Amino acid sequence: MDRAELIKVRLDLVKRELGTTELVAVSKSTDIESIEYALESGQSDFGENRIGDLEEKAIFLKDRDITWHFIGHLQSNKINRLLKIPNLRFIHSIDSLKTLENLYKKEEHFNGDSLGFFLQINTSQEEEKQGFSISNYDELAAAANMISRMENSNFYLAGLMTMGKIRTEDFEKDARSCFKSLVKVRNTLKRDFELPPMKLSMGMSRDYIIAAEEGADYVRVGTNIFKPEEPHH
Ligand SMILES: *Cc1c(COP(=O)(O)O)cnc(C)c1O
Repeated sequence: MDRAELIKVRLDLVKRELGTTELVAVSKSTDIESIEYALESGQSDFGENRIGDLEEKAIFLKDRDITWHFIGHLQSNKINRLLKIPNLRFIHSIDSLKTLENLYKKEEHFNGDSLGFFLQINTSQEEEKQGFSISNYDELAAAANMISRMENSNFYLAGLMTMGKIRTEDFEKDARSCFKSLVKVRNTLKRDFELPPMKLSMGMSRDYIIAAEEGADYVRVGTNIFKPEEPHH
């Protein structure tokens, strides 16, 4: 099988396993040619975690029917560049109130139609992970309310994002428990405040099936599609 066929086969397989959950194909470790193969197989949504790589790929593919998702850590000095990227529609990695405030300060640089924000939550409480602390509900609630109450903005609250536990003896069990926490915090926010429907972005190559079972609206899968020689399952 050549590379184009291989990518198509892997995409079809992942999509079949997902049902109605949407796939963000994480292209951070692959090249533009492979993204074009995926586009030709009908995949429209792609994710990148580095501004420079995203910029290069998005500018090259700017006239294609493509939706970009930024999934990486957002440094405040790179926000201007990020907001100018063509076809950027979602940021999955809003990790603090400070980041959020910086985004609104720079909103004039955004020239797309709308940009959906996912608040990243550190459900596994691992120190090296970014995100709102699962134990600081007030800060998270303040962020969700800030986005949804902002007037005259093209930014909107798209939902919540998390990652399964990294250091674990039993990743399936721990991933499931992280995903269940995200569902729970979403339901609590909905109960406590008048907020728009919030989607859930959770699950990567090794745990996307578990995430889909737990109610993910988006999974972010890279390795299993673009490095099929080393699939996680
Ligand atoms: C790299 C990355 C993914 C995809 O990981 P794979 O294991 O390659 O599927 C998903 N989400 C985030 C935030 C990432 O950085």
